[in-house]
Amino acid sequence: LIQLAIPLNFTGFVYREIRQGLTDIEHMFDLLDVQAEVVDHPNAKELKIDRGAIAFRNVRFAYDPARPILKGISFDVPAGKTVAVVGPSGAGKSTLSRLLYRFYDVQEGSITIDGQDVRDVTQKSLRAVIGMVPQDTVLFNDTIAYNIRYGRVEASDSEVEAAAEAAQIADFIRGLPEGFRAMVGERGLKLSGGEKQRVAIARTILKAPPILILDEATSALDTKTEQEIQAALDVVSRNRTTLVIAHRLSTVIHADEIIVVKDGVIAERGTHGELIDRDGLYASMWSRQREATQAEEQLKRVRESD
Ligand code: ADP
Ligand code: MG
Repeated sequence: LIQLAIPLNFTGFVYREIRQGLTDIEHMFDLLDVQAEVVDHPNAKELKIDRGAIAFRNVRFAYDPARPILKGISFDVPAGKTVAVVGPSGAGKSTLSRLLYRFYDVQEGSITIDGQDVRDVTQKSLRAVIGMVPQDTVLFNDTIAYNIRYGRVEASDSEVEAAAEAAQIADFIRGLPEGFRAMVGERGLKLSGGEKQRVAIARTILKAPPILILDEATSALDTKTEQEIQAALDVVSRNRTTLVIAHRLSTVIHADEIIVVKDGVIAERGTHGELIDRDGLYASMWSRQREATQAEEQLKRVRESD
């Protein structure tokens, strides 16, 4: 399973993660497994970023040949625009982001950034231009400042604080007895899912990459936290090429295009308004989520009045 082709720097990273008592073993093996599959092409070049336009062309992919996940997906994320991918759980949304980040290679078709196939460039140069805010962030056992600064190690204290501010987590941090020097992670202060996600957003703000991949949290965050996270994400994605995988449809209303993936193909695409008018899959997902949100709010009101 774990091959020696894993690059040294990555092994170092993993080693540190293990040493620091990462509990998410499954995620760990996922990373190892994934990393072992993709190696740089012998003549791999540095990715040259112009404006960060992404193109998926007839992308086909399966983890297991017997079960195709993506069966010919084509779409663009024009430079500086936001494209949202929605669809049922297990549809292959996160897989699209893993292929763009090149944890895996497409089996047919291609993914290009500014016309360069991601398979023809070094992984280092590819990953340097992409900021990924994953579904569940694992923090290092270190200070909260360290965890944010990881996005750009040479950043000053005031830059770290500004990033925390933009990610709507600064007030929370200042409220801690040790502030930015508070220890977090498995052996430190346990942060909630929403707090961890905002740390990841702050890290990404500091990295300031031209391309963003946002895989939103599935876990039911309360409405206020969700709004705070959304505001932070809006800041970071402004004028950046952004691929957002959305679980909550309220977050995709303003996307330049929404792609609905189902059964390995694009079932519907368009803006929020166009898809509502179409009265198809997206429209029914939308009304179901609205009902769920209303029920949730009602329940909360009942609880609060107790
Ligand atoms: P989504 O993000 O839309 O919920 P994913 O892209 O994570 O879906 O996964 C798509 C399908 O691929 C799911 O059925 C999932 O179980 C499967 N899958 C995901 N990762 C792996 C993996 N590493 N190995 C095998 N199957 C996987
Ligand atoms: Mg997913």
